Amino acid sequence: MDERTTATGERIHLARSEAERGSKGPFVIAYADPEGTESWGYFCAVCESTETAMDTMGRIKCGRCANVKKPDEWDAAHE
Ligand SMILES: [Zn+2]
Repeated sequence: MDERTTATGERIHLARSEAERGSKGPFVIAYADPEGTESWGYFCAVCESTETAMDTMGRIKCGRCANVKKPDEWDAAHE
């Protein structure tokens, strides 16, 4: 896994094979440990930022480049 240090000095590990598709580009799933057992959150691969947050609607949003991933249900429920 790729290793990154966050703005707050945390070391995270990126699972490049577990990316989620966002509006601008992928969000890569990040883990707190190199074995990938403790999930940390999402890493925005568009602007290489860890400033991501999930809102109450389940959307993942990057606070730097406004990359957004809509919840999976949006695709499934769309008729
Ligand atoms: Zn971003």
